[in-house]
Amino acid sequence: MPELPEVETIARVLDRSVVRGARIATVQVYRRNVLRECTPRSLDARARGATLDRFWRRAKYVVGELSTGDRLVVSPRFTGSLDIERGGWRHGRGDYTAIVFALADGNAMRYRDVRRLGTVSLMAPARFAEWEADLGPEPLDPAFTAAAFARNVRASTRAIKTVLMDQRRVAGIGNIYANEALWRAKIRPSRRASTLTLAESARLFDEARAVLTAAVEQGGTSFRDYRDPNGERGGFLGLAKVYGRAGEPCVACGTTLRSSHALENRITVWCTACQK
Ligand SMILES: [Zn+2]
Repeated sequence: MPELPEVETIARVLDRSVVRGARIATVQVYRRNVLRECTPRSLDARARGATLDRFWRRAKYVVGELSTGDRLVVSPRFTGSLDIERGGWRHGRGDYTAIVFALADGNAMRYRDVRRLGTVSLMAPARFAEWEADLGPEPLDPAFTAAAFARNVRASTRAIKTVLMDQRRVAGIGNIYANEALWRAKIRPSRRASTLTLAESARLFDEARAVLTAAVEQGGTSFRDYRDPNGERGGFLGLAKVYGRAGEPCVACGTTLRSSHALENRITVWCTACQK
């Protein structure tokens, strides 16, 4: 499931692509159950004639701003992708196309989703501000400090890994990067967040930032489905130290990495020797 680095990559690729600045000619919705806060008819009516002014990321969402001020907010979840279709797109049966934004220049931006668990919302500026207010701070925002991170996470008695993945405490971190950040910070994922010392919390903050930054530079992690809008895979998986490596030796100490699904039913991989 795409996390901060993958969604950041999607937004950056779109923002630097032919799609940015293009005018929307029509919107065709083929799978209406991915839509939120709009209908096929209202999406087409509000987007038609507008230009796609810019793209950015907030938490695990791609935001596309239209010249009307409306924002498209896309959550790719497990299998959603935003694809740039040079020369346009012709719908075929069974190709998992959910929405096609046909552009006046002949190209298209397509939202495709095999399992249809992702969502595409259309929000006016006031609604967008309200939606954004519910999200936690961005880990790579220079204004987000180690002290603020410590306040947010140490207030909880839940497992630190669960707290790291809580989008209201810190945005954008999911299972892959929570596992990696905790290994790098040498903290056991099941520790109650409230038991972290200030020094451990500061170390975790630094390591979370470092691993997210490294992953953004690699274009994210392609574990199964994730592809960027040009169809490229991310390169971070080969650099992961624990994720996808259960049963292998810890690269720091050689101890066999353990795994469990005890936390939130997601796979946790950790080193019993390095992580306290
Ligand atoms: Zn180890």
